[in-house]
Amino acid sequence: MTMKPQSPSYWQLSTPPFAGGERGRVEGECDVAVIGGGFTGLSAALELARGGASVMLLEAGRIASAASGRNGGQCNAGTAHDFGALASAHGLDLARKWYLAHVDAVETVGRIAAREGIDCDFARCGRAKLAAKPEHFPNLEAAYALLTKEVDPNVLLVGPGELSSEINAQGFHGALVQTTSAQLHPGKLALGLGEAAVRAGARIWENAPVEAMERTPAQGWKLTTPRGMVRARQVLVATGGNSPYPPFGWFRRRIVTVGSFVIATEPLSNNLSQHLFPTRRNYVTSRIVGNYFRLTADNRLIFGGRARFALSNPASDAKSGRVLEARMREMFPQLAQIGIAACWGGAIDLTADRLPRAGEHDGLFYAMGYSGHGVQMATAMGERMARVMGGDPAANPFADLSWPAIPGHLGKPWFLPMVGAWYRLQDWLH
Ligand SMILES: Cc1cc2nc3c(=O)[nH]c(=O)nc-3n(C[C@H](O)[C@H](O)[C@H](O)COP(=O)(O)OP(=O)(O)OC[C@H]3O[C@@H](n4cnc5c(N)ncnc54)[C@H](O)[C@@H]3O)c2cc1C
Repeated sequence: MTMKPQSPSYWQLSTPPFAGGERGRVEGECDVAVIGGGFTGLSAALELARGGASVMLLEAGRIASAASGRNGGQCNAGTAHDFGALASAHGLDLARKWYLAHVDAVETVGRIAAREGIDCDFARCGRAKLAAKPEHFPNLEAAYALLTKEVDPNVLLVGPGELSSEINAQGFHGALVQTTSAQLHPGKLALGLGEAAVRAGARIWENAPVEAMERTPAQGWKLTTPRGMVRARQVLVATGGNSPYPPFGWFRRRIVTVGSFVIATEPLSNNLSQHLFPTRRNYVTSRIVGNYFRLTADNRLIFGGRARFALSNPASDAKSGRVLEARMREMFPQLAQIGIAACWGGAIDLTADRLPRAGEHDGLFYAMGYSGHGVQMATAMGERMARVMGGDPAANPFADLSWPAIPGHLGKPWFLPMVGAWYRLQDWLH
């Protein structure tokens, strides 16, 4: 099985290649094998190695070649699902615990980057959720009241009349700002995590997909790749939800993979970026099929969204890029002449309730399903799962969540076009 080609992201184009990988065959024994070199796997490998474990990380392609190198770089506090909806479904205590785990995850990313000297443009910029219709603003007011009362004092409400202090764009009607959210360069974070893990003693093999696994009571886990095999006492599955390889079918049936697409512009002038984005926040819109965007440290606009209900491949990315470009120029007519420097897509791993899943299944540890919030959560859950594997189960805030398979879902999301049509209808109606 070979990995499908993908258009490179702006982050991949602007990050030096990882040079710390093992060159020889995959062989040996270790305390922990980590499968997958995205944020989850790299952060876990770093923490495990810092704790004294012998660690081997096996990555199917290059490190951060999947979602971790292809995202929007928004490192937002707060759950993927609305806090009010979570509290209604699970009660206030659990909703608070999960929300605060997301807030803490942003801290974790900042702490690891500072401790390891990772220069990844980490900046506490805050996140603004923009009301895309006048009737969405009362929802933001209600969310503001609930959040400030129950869980997060670090939110601000910006009325329609004051919005130009936050952003100068067409078609928005107020904002809810979460001020502790951050942004970063995901390529540089992943590279820095990989280098730090190697410094701490972990060994990393790229182009080493795990194609088969077996476990014996005497010898523990045996993981087979085309470059050889390793034995490990414990295994962490950090593959995201759509690993196409045979051993990961149980996870594929529990996660729906949705394509998301991104464009990066050429740098904007200082004057223009200051005028359009005076507070330089992360932005998301309140539509279900909405957009997310932010500036980079060198003033490029990173503009993403679902664009089309399709999976990512170079042709699909290009089509989606044209949809995003048109939307961006409509939102910001001042960007009519700005060039597009890169266009790419990736797979977001969604759980049915948009809460991550982490724990142990059939003797395999795992963490995934961050539902579009993995820049912070994958990095934090990698560190937390290292502690769980070292004997501290309380480090996993999602341990008690059940995880049934999604009915009718065998691993390929055949139902996406219908879901897409339903979401677009909801956006049109509400
Ligand atoms: C377009 C896009 C935009 C996004 N924007 C944001 C955002 O702004 N903010 C945010 O918080 N989140 C965002 N996300 C989500 C976030 O990027 C992910 O949740 C996070 O990167 C997941 O990290 P991970 O390590 O769990 O998985 P991945 O990054 O997917 O890494 C898994 C790795 O496992 C490897 N692998 C798979 N199978 C095997 C195998 N059999 N053997 C060995 N290796 C294997 C893969 O090659 C891959 O490198 C976005 C995602 C996309 C796609």
